[in-house]
Amino acid sequence: MSRSAHPAGPRHADVLPEGHYTAPADDLNALDPKVWAHTVGRDADGVVTVGGIAVTQLAEEYGTPAYILDEADFRDRARAWRTAFGTDADVFYAGKAFLSRAVVRWLDEEGLNLDVCSGGELATALSAGMPAERIAFHGNNKSPEEIERAVRAGVGRIVLDSFQEIVRVAHIAESLGKRQPVQIRITVGVEAHTHEFIATAHEDQKFGIPLAGGQAAEAVRRALQLDGLDVIGIHSHIGSQIFDMSGFEVAAHRVVGLLKDVRDEHGVELAEIDLGGGLGIAYTSDDDPREPHEIAKALSEIVTRECEGARLRTPRISVEPGRAIVGPTAFTLYEVGTVKPLEGLRTYVSVDGGMSDNIRTALYDAEYSVALASRTSDAEPMLVRVVGKHCESGDIVVKDAFLPGDLAPGDLIAVPATGAYCRSMASNYNHAMRPPVVAVRDGAARVIVRRETEEDLLRLDVG
Ligand SMILES: *Cc1c(COP(=O)(O)O)cnc(C)c1O
Repeated sequence: MSRSAHPAGPRHADVLPEGHYTAPADDLNALDPKVWAHTVGRDADGVVTVGGIAVTQLAEEYGTPAYILDEADFRDRARAWRTAFGTDADVFYAGKAFLSRAVVRWLDEEGLNLDVCSGGELATALSAGMPAERIAFHGNNKSPEEIERAVRAGVGRIVLDSFQEIVRVAHIAESLGKRQPVQIRITVGVEAHTHEFIATAHEDQKFGIPLAGGQAAEAVRRALQLDGLDVIGIHSHIGSQIFDMSGFEVAAHRVVGLLKDVRDEHGVELAEIDLGGGLGIAYTSDDDPREPHEIAKALSEIVTRECEGARLRTPRISVEPGRAIVGPTAFTLYEVGTVKPLEGLRTYVSVDGGMSDNIRTALYDAEYSVALASRTSDAEPMLVRVVGKHCESGDIVVKDAFLPGDLAPGDLIAVPATGAYCRSMASNYNHAMRPPVVAVRDGAARVIVRRETEEDLLRLDVG
């Protein structure tokens, strides 16, 4: 599918393709626990509640649009990952999914480590007191300033992404009189998404050093020779929104093959392998993600089996879930502004946010669900497209969904599973002011990232 043929994308043309839409759910008022945060429900009046607070009250206090995050759910999921992987493995939360100082503190308290991939994310982590040795620093083009800051801070690992970076980090560490623990990120030729994976010998992407042609082995050889580097392991990250573990199986096989080559050539058994993130969540009721304990068991079995086959000591495993922890914990609360029925097509429901607070639908054709949140309704289902208020026809939040036919301006609707890659990818397009993140727990709500104001916008515009 071409996404660039027209600024509005292919969406101008895709009017009701036969058989594309799933039927409406039997009960539009039901909230599928798969896609909603753990403490979400409806009160006696039918209003959606989270952490014991009604969304009508949240909208009144904090305005809309707003990201509403269930803190108890976040902590539960973080703890579930931590517990599932036990003490023989490390869980690094991928900060790019959503990072704030409150989140850093929750991760610290729940015993997780943290991945960052920019100076800004590193600054956020350090300012919230995450111990540097529990931070991993990623990125395919870290600046010398970022590297120096990370080395000085004493981050637990820097993930090296290119031959040039091997030398760069070694040089900076040496000049600071340090020996920096590093992993080398390799690409193993596996790309996994949802229910499929592609395995090739080569990989055409910007991240990592290819296993192909002995390049990864050469990278390890060079890194081992540099005094500024302590090579602790190999890193591989194969995709996103993955449900099927077989991509990890192929990736682990190839990573272990490299560990074996390194052992045979240099007599060094690298201590760690990091299998990256990319584990999927339910955006709609059709998605069936795996539980952390199932993932931990599968990954540990795969690595153990591969290492036994290669007669290697089993390395320490680490994983980097982002979406799988924060994604399901938040929903976006919007107010309906206009409802526009298009005869024979669908009804366009415009909300007070859009692609500036959720770019994933426009960017990845992501699917979301939506529910009427400020009340229940027994009206007949109508096919809707939830769109934003931006000057762009690709400004779609939920492409196809059913909402009650009596939906009206002033109703609140909620889009679940927006905890990952929504606030973190939010923009000021059309000078939209980015929504707040409100954390709710045990009947109390607090803003952890405040709403932007016109003052914020104008402060950057120096006139
Ligand atoms: C994006 C990314 C992750 C997290 O991916 P999720 O899909 O959010 O789990 C982990 N590791 C690396 C290297 C990444 O680039």
